[in-house]
Amino acid sequence: MSTPLIDPFLRPIDYLRVSVTDRCDFRCVYCMSENMTFLPKKELLTLEELDRMCSTFIGLGVQKLRITGGEPLVRRDIMTFFRAMSRHLDAGHLQELTLTTNGSQLERFADDLAAAGVRRINVSLDTMDDRKFADITRWGRLPQVLRGIDAARKAGLRIKINAVALKGFNEDELLPMTEWCAREDMDLTWIEVMPMGDIGNEDRLDQYWRLSDLRARLAEHYTLTDLAERTGGPARYVRIEQTGQKIGFITPLTHNFCESCNRVRLTCTGELFMCLGQEDNADLRAGLRNHPHDNAPLENAIREAIARKPKGHDFDYSRQTVDGRVSRHMSHTGG
Ligand code: SAM
Ligand code: SF4
Repeated sequence: MSTPLIDPFLRPIDYLRVSVTDRCDFRCVYCMSENMTFLPKKELLTLEELDRMCSTFIGLGVQKLRITGGEPLVRRDIMTFFRAMSRHLDAGHLQELTLTTNGSQLERFADDLAAAGVRRINVSLDTMDDRKFADITRWGRLPQVLRGIDAARKAGLRIKINAVALKGFNEDELLPMTEWCAREDMDLTWIEVMPMGDIGNEDRLDQYWRLSDLRARLAEHYTLTDLAERTGGPARYVRIEQTGQKIGFITPLTHNFCESCNRVRLTCTGELFMCLGQEDNADLRAGLRNHPHDNAPLENAIREAIARKPKGHDFDYSRQTVDGRVSRHMSHTGG
């Protein structure tokens, strides 16, 4: 195998997140505006191109692949891609193939995902209340997602619920959601809302519920033990002693954990973002399309991009304004 990917701050890069579509069947208020303009289909990497791109990264030492979007399960024929990636699991070149989804299509696809070697998935769910769910996702319906979660559990997939902490919206659901996840044996991770993309009339500062406050409230009800576990990402974990469950906190705003970052993000058009919170990116599609039979230009482009991976992001709300904002939506880079 060739030399692994190491960035200028000596961080090994072994985790690739791939956004396979910018489209979605929901319009979550913190993620998208109601009227989104999506990319023309010809701009997207084909499934074969996505395969070649991911396989090249795996050849360069990527061990973990997370498929995301937009909503990855609305991309046509996406199971063909999952099945293709499973060959790298079988060969032992890839340790984990995983998915972040809004859950709307899980009822259809859970069995296929399990058959393709997916073992764990993240399902994004911010509220357990039907009406609030319809409000926050604009187009989503909670019962469909709950049926999806059920199907995923029956298929043997381990589930982590990702919830965006939103001031005045799901503060009152902190304990009910914790209890639900404990009962259903699912992990739960809370995410601070990040200033990404134009979302219409919504105000980021109005949405922002800091996780230090959320954690303090949780600690009023439970004994929390910090866990040493690190995934190379921004998440930090505690165990609730009373239930044994694991709770994660993704705190890009109140803490900056970029020093151990091990990941890069590929968009559905073949741009590589070396940091979620910065605008710099590398166009890998040209290297791929201009050299259909020679992988060297693509590999070189990947190495050059990793050599420019920045130290970290600059998101900052501390001055009561939104600083460090990036113009693209989370659905573009893949959350
Ligand atoms: N559609 C899939 C889903 O919702 O899980 C995958 C893509 S979505 C962009 C990935 C994650 O990003 C979701 O958990 C979502 O809640 C989160 N997200 C989107 N916009 C965000 C923002 N501005 N700040 C923090 N998290 C955000
Ligand atoms: Fe779609 Fe996920 Fe964004 Fe919600 S967070 S609009 S489900 S991409």
